[in-house]
Amino acid sequence: MKYDAVIIGGGPAGLCTAVNLLSHGVSCCIIDKAVFPREKICAGVLTIKTREKINSIFRGFPWEDLKCSTISKLKIQFRNTSIGTYNLKYPYVIVDRAQFDYELMKYFLRMNGKLMENERSYKINISDNNIILSDGTIIQYDFLVGADGINSRIRKFIDPLYKPKALCIQAFTEPDSCPEYVSADFGYIHSGYCWNIPCGNKLGIGVAGSIKELNNIKKTFTTQAAIYEIGKKDIRSWLLSCGNYVRKPINKNIILVGDAAGLVDPVTGEGIYYAVESGILAADSIVSFYNKGYMNYHSTVKLIHKRINQQKRFRFLLYSGFFRKSTLFIVKKKTHWAEFIFDEVISAYNNTYSEALIKLIESLVRK
Ligand SMILES: Cc1cc2nc3c(=O)[nH]c(=O)nc-3n(C[C@H](O)[C@H](O)[C@H](O)COP(=O)(O)OP(=O)(O)OC[C@H]3O[C@@H](n4cnc5c(N)ncnc54)[C@H](O)[C@@H]3O)c2cc1C
Repeated sequence: MKYDAVIIGGGPAGLCTAVNLLSHGVSCCIIDKAVFPREKICAGVLTIKTREKINSIFRGFPWEDLKCSTISKLKIQFRNTSIGTYNLKYPYVIVDRAQFDYELMKYFLRMNGKLMENERSYKINISDNNIILSDGTIIQYDFLVGADGINSRIRKFIDPLYKPKALCIQAFTEPDSCPEYVSADFGYIHSGYCWNIPCGNKLGIGVAGSIKELNNIKKTFTTQAAIYEIGKKDIRSWLLSCGNYVRKPINKNIILVGDAAGLVDPVTGEGIYYAVESGILAADSIVSFYNKGYMNYHSTVKLIHKRINQQKRFRFLLYSGFFRKSTLFIVKKKTHWAEFIFDEVISAYNNTYSEALIKLIESLVRK
């Protein structure tokens, strides 16, 4: 059996790579260790830029079939005290990741894409460009794409020393009534935040921060979980990248995308957008190889790295002692500026944090 590309992992990154390849006539298959629909630990917030990117690849994506919530208010808190509640120009769509990823997968299958699921003990022969599945089937490939998430097996062939730096703990509960807003509390974790995110009749509660704050993250989550009487069996924890992406996520014919490449917004923890974008860029690069004889992923993915570097600089303002208090003070006092950050900088990527800071300085000078 031979495919132009074998993609390990059928999350958003792998599926965007696959669907983009198939639409350009490049053959591919997906190998995943899970059976779909499968659980994915995630709060499920899709910003407008993510939905637009998905719509550009998954044409006619059946949003109406998803059990999702559309939320247009964001509440920012500090140790349970409100800093402000902000109206979102571009509402968040909150999805159940198992269902959302399954819809993406069904789209791929409708394109006659081939999924090998429940594959846990396949063997990768890098030197022979092939994979031997658990039933002995040999799959030959030109390209191997690592879309296998934060604990990527494929990443070991490119950056064996890479280590994720952040940790999230999350659980879902079904309270009598869910809030009509997403809330983020910056008062408990120095390097991260706690969230409450409604999705239908469920409420996702979570805590994220640097692994260095492990004990504080655990303690904060335990306090939150006790409020909602969440039992241990419902609690999930997962690693996340925090600005430390893989610098060169391509080595010869092996390419990393999404979480496997460490592509996550270090301010918010949003990763689905970069999973989708890097998947599209990786597929474009493979198509370019077949059409023009060269690959450009290393240069195109640098645009994502550039944006993450900008986000890292703002992360410093929001997540370091003195600056955090001043930043939250401005967010409290300057409602329109805060909404500009939430809408144009975070949700839409229409502006950068630097442009937002210039806007803030201009408004202070005008006063
Ligand atoms: C608690 C939490 C909350 C989050 N909330 C948000 C949010 O609200 N919005 C947002 O945008 N991002 C959020 N993220 C980040 C987001 O979940 C990820 O960035 C995104 O899922 C990355 O997509 P991916 O396709 O790269 O990887 P994944 O979605 O992790 O998919 C990887 C796939 O690879 C498969 N796989 C893994 N290992 C192997 C293997 N060895 N062999 C074969 N298959 C394998 C898995 O089964 C899976 O199907 C959150 C993350 C966490 C941990």
